This record gives sequence, C-alpha cells and structure tokens, in this order.
Amino acid sequence: MNKAKIVIAGAGYGGMNTAVALSKKLGHNEASITLVNKHDYHYQTTWLHEPAAGTMDPDRTRVKISDVLNTNKVNFVQDEVLEIKTDDKKVMLKDGELDYDYLVVSLGAVSETFGIPGVHEHAFTKWTLNGARQVKDHIDAQFANYNNTADPHEGMLTFVVAGAGFTGIEFIGELSERIPELCKKYDVPREKVRLFVVEAAPSALPGFDPELVEYGMNLLESRGVEFKINTPIKEVTASGVIVGEGEEIKSETIVWATGVRGNPVIDQSGFEANRGRIKVEPDLRAPGFDDVFVIGDCALIINEEINRPYPPTAQIAMQMAKTCANNIVTLNKGGSSLESFKPDIKGTVASLGGKEAIGVVGSKKIYGGTANFMKKMIDNRALFILGGPMLTLKKGKFPL
Ligand code: FAD
Ligand code: NAD
Repeated sequence: MNKAKIVIAGAGYGGMNTAVALSKKLGHNEASITLVNKHDYHYQTTWLHEPAAGTMDPDRTRVKISDVLNTNKVNFVQDEVLEIKTDDKKVMLKDGELDYDYLVVSLGAVSETFGIPGVHEHAFTKWTLNGARQVKDHIDAQFANYNNTADPHEGMLTFVVAGAGFTGIEFIGELSERIPELCKKYDVPREKVRLFVVEAAPSALPGFDPELVEYGMNLLESRGVEFKINTPIKEVTASGVIVGEGEEIKSETIVWATGVRGNPVIDQSGFEANRGRIKVEPDLRAPGFDDVFVIGDCALIINEEINRPYPPTAQIAMQMAKTCANNIVTLNKGGSSLESFKPDIKGTVASLGGKEAIGVVGSKKIYGGTANFMKKMIDNRALFILGGPMLTLKKGKFPL
C-alpha cells in the first residue's frame, strides 16, 4: 500500500509543532511527512518586537529547523508556497510542487492595512525576522544620520507606531527602553526624539483589562511615549501620517501594527475566507475539504461565549497543532472519529520593555516584575514544547 503523503505548509508555531507531533506519532512505514517553509529556520514571531526595536539579537529568535525536527522522519523543503490546487491535491511552490493526501496550512498572517493609502510604500509592515532587522537598522540609521545632516529635518527622530494592540504596545515598550541608549550612543539630546502611538479605538489595547491598560499607558508615558487615542490613521505619506481630521504627524519611521489577516496564499487558492482566514470546522478542516487542515493565524474560530472570533495567537496555534496532528493520525489509520478543537486560554501577558509587563493569567491580574517573570516563562515554555530542555537552555530567556 502507498504511504499517505502529508504536507505541512509553514514552519511557525502551528506547522513546527504539527511536524514534531506527527514525527513522534507516525512510523516510517505509515506516512511520508514533508514540511515546506520559506527559510531553513523557524522564528519566534512572538519575540519579534525585541529585535525590531534592537533590544535582542535577531539570531536569538530563530531556530534551525534541522536542529529541532527529526529529519529522518520529516522531509524538509525550503521553498515558497505560491498556491494550493485543491482539485489536483498539489501545493505549488516557487521552485516546484508537492502532492499531498493530507495538507496542513499553517502559513501565518500578514499585516492588515485596510487599504489605507501609502502603507505599503512608506511604513514597515513585515513582522518577520527579516522585517524586524529592517526596522532596527532603519532606526539606528536615523540616529546615525541625525548629526551628519546639515539640516536635520522634522520627523527624522519621530517614531510612529500605528495601532495600540499588543504588537504596537510591545514594540513601543522595547523602543522606549532603548531610546536613552541610542541618544547616548549617537550624541542626540533626548528631547529631539518623539515617540507616538496612534490608535483608532477609544482606548489602547481595546477590550483588555482597563486597570492594566492604565498601568501600561502611564508607564510608557513616563518614558516619553505620546498616545493619540481615538485617532484613526487615514494615510501614510513619505513625510509622515495623516490622522483624524487631517492632522499630519511628521515622521520618517512608521511601524505598522493595526492587526493581521491570513496569508495571501489562502485567497490566491480560492478558499472561502474572511480577511484571509478560513472559518474551520471543529476538527480544523477547511469546510468542504476532507484532506485540508488549516491552523494558526490562517484559521478562524469563533468564541461562542461572545460570538466573536478568537484573536489569532501563538497560544492557539500551538494547541491547534496538537489536535491537527491527532486528527491526521486518526484519518491515516482509517478512523473517522476526529477530535474537536477547544482552545484552552490560559491568559494574556504583554511585555512593556525592560523588566515591565502586564497580564491576566486565569482570572488574576499581574503587572511589573511578576508579569515580566511570567512572560519569560511563557516564552520559554513555547521553546520547551517545541524542542525540549536543550532548545530551552540554548535559546530561552534567562535569568527569569
Ligand atoms: P507563524 O508563527 O507566523 O509562522 C508562519 C510560518 O510560515 C513562518 O515560518 C513563515 O516564514 C512561513 N511562511 C509564510 N508564508 C510562506 C510561504 N508563502 N511559503 C512558505 N513559508 C511561508 N501570540 C501569543 O499567543 N502570545 C504572544 O505573546 C504573542 N506575541 C506576539 C508578538 C508579536 C510582535 C507578533 C507580531 C505576534 C505575536 N503573537 C503572540 C501572535 C503570534 O505570533 C501568532 O498568532 C503566531 O505566530 C501564529 O502562528 P502560525 O503558525 O499561524 O504562524
Ligand atoms: P490587534 O488587532 O490586536 O490590534 C491592532 C490595533 O490597531 C487595534 O487596537 C486597532 O483598533 C488599531 N487600528 C486599526 N486600524 C487603525 C488605524 N487606521 N489607525 C490607528 N489604529 C488602528 O493586532 P496586533 O496588535 O497586531 O496583534 C495581532 C494578534 O497577535 C492579536 O491576536 C494579538 O492578540 C496577538 N498578539 C499577542 C501578544 C501577547 O499576547 N503578548 C502580543 C502581540 C500580538
């Protein structure tokens, strides 16, 4: 009998954990497993605000795929997925194609720009390892150039973060911590630097605990961050952002964090989707497809208690990987009784840079050093689940 061909597209939290789980659960003779990813490394998307602001070496966030995966059991292909042809059961790559019997789509998300003019041309939108490097290098160059320009212009040292969701807040937390060091290094007076966070909703971190939001905003303001709340960005230009009723904030550095949409491959492949995310069945398959599982940021699942989608998180992507792997194993053995996915939300903790963070764990609010400790524990736990104690010791955040 031919072995089933399992293809996993994307080596993020969802894809890597699915590949690791399948490699442990399936023997050589039971299936052939292929993981395809753009790079030969996995990166911790949840850490990217740190290398982007320059508070962490980008290499710390990446893990060589062959260091974690049993490559005797999982065939790794480094390539870019362009399209999924479900009728032919093929994944089309930049440099080839892969046939599948079961497919796991775990290609993550891209920035949502809501069609706002100028974003792609003038803002930094890529929350990837290379994108983070680009932001950091640009920030450093702005400082380096400041004292070497005959007429330092307005906006050169004004940094704008679009969106006060968790990504925007975590990024400004890191950057605001690093500014004193950058000022010292490049002989720039601190008062020349301005940091803005522009948020369309009536509050930063909309929907999050108001007391913790206040704690976070006060802390960031004490480091010089200026919040513009209730102020949608309307346009991004070469000289800055146009907000609210037409006011311009002059800036040469706009970091885009207004939310995400599923990977463009989803729309390109003709799946029915909502902002690039497929509303999956309880067993995590795409509606109408017996052989296509969709997990992580490409999947949409509804929180029935509030009748709204769960936010796309690494926490959910990792949990989905487990259910997805179990269901593929069942199908591969000829079974038909599949697990339904139920997220087990343990809480949310956001770093604010330095030794500060805020969060809710279970029903408990935490902030300051306690939350910072918890955030590191969460980050280390993700490494532990993926690669055990060796990976945690090699890449983990210590001291706690
Ligand atoms: P990802 O982990 O993003 O992985 C997608 C993979 O697919 C990547 O390896 C990418 O290179 C690859 N890929 C993409 N396109 C292609 C292609 N066409 N061909 C081949 N490969 C491709 N969530 C939390 O739960 N807790 C947090 O603290 C947290 N912090 C965050 C901080 C930041 C700065 C950001 C940006 C997000 C954060 N999130 C957090 C959200 C979390 O990172 C995502 O929900 C999670 O990464 C989704 O996992 P995924 O497997 O779907 O995608
Ligand atoms: P988000 O959707 O959570 O926040 C985006 C913010 O941008 C919102 O507050 C929104 O009102 C605002 N916005 C939208 N359009 C705007 C405009 N035109 N002008 C100004 N503001 C605008 O997106 P995110 O912060 O990128 O997070 C993406 C996902 O990753 C979420 O699910 C989030 O929970 C998760 N995440 C989690 C953590 C954590 O747990 N520590 C950290 C980062 C991200």
